[in-house]
Amino acid sequence: MLIVQKFGGSSLASLERLRRAAGICLEAVRRGHRLVVVVSAAGDSTDELLELARQIDPQPPARELDALMATGEQRSAALMAIMLSSLGAEAQSFSGWQAGIYTSALHGQARIGLVSPQRLTEALEEGRIAVVAGFQGLSPQGDITTLGRGGSDTSAVALAAALGAGRCEIYTDVAGIYTADPRLVTGAKLLKEIDFRDMLLLAQAGSQVLHPDSVRLAMASGMELRLLSSFERGPGSVVRFLEEERRPAYAGVTRDAERSVVTAVGRAAGRRTLAELADLLEKAGVAVLDRSAEEGCVSCKVAPEQLLPALELVHSALIG
Ligand code: ASP
Ligand code: MG
Repeated sequence: MLIVQKFGGSSLASLERLRRAAGICLEAVRRGHRLVVVVSAAGDSTDELLELARQIDPQPPARELDALMATGEQRSAALMAIMLSSLGAEAQSFSGWQAGIYTSALHGQARIGLVSPQRLTEALEEGRIAVVAGFQGLSPQGDITTLGRGGSDTSAVALAAALGAGRCEIYTDVAGIYTADPRLVTGAKLLKEIDFRDMLLLAQAGSQVLHPDSVRLAMASGMELRLLSSFERGPGSVVRFLEEERRPAYAGVTRDAERSVVTAVGRAAGRRTLAELADLLEKAGVAVLDRSAEEGCVSCKVAPEQLLPALELVHSALIG
């Protein structure tokens, strides 16, 4: 089977972690799979590059910023290929454009259009692991673009779909997708599976587990996603279309820290949920400054200092 594995920045943050990630790749190869590995920039290096540019100019030219930011992933791809080679595998690294990822021209927020991964197919046919720099592509003008923060997920899904991969695995630093961020909410539960629609709404509402574009793309191509920890073994979470009876009433709760909004998502979420939540929050002394209900998704805006208590309250009311 052809598998696409994507490793996030925290899974690559040191040489030891890089070696561990390479070990996961090699395990798949040993089981007889062909492999495309998509990598993010290591640790906080994207933030560091951004900071560096802003020290020169608070609003750097978008084209140059993309050229700079894309280097983080390129570095990871080359290091991963070197690591895999040192462990006895044949591996070759590719930039986004070498991998045939073409995007719109919108620097910093480019959308993937055409994907023509001939060079990856060649490498795979020759028995090599293809390691691809995520988060980047080439504009119609031939300039380097990036896909928006967290965009390596989107690179992985786009390649998986274009190559007709049997599986797309996203490796990260948490055990899978939770009903809320387990670092913020005490009772958050690991989900075995989640429906594409719920995942997309959560991603759009500020959950940073997966980039919204990656979920949209997976949904459009029917490519199941498997979210796994690169640090501990476990079943992880699968994102796919769930039959209605398998879809929980409420799948998850998340927050958008910038807008100070708490959002609950699930097939039962609607006007009635919103009224109940607003009531509950007001009774707990959390003023609801704005609210909205759409099918499958309700949101309350609260004061920034009440965002975390509100998240906890909404989670325990709807999910437990
Ligand atoms: N390195 C980029 C970021 O930090 C892309 C990614 O990690 O997916 O946003
Ligand atoms: Mg991410």
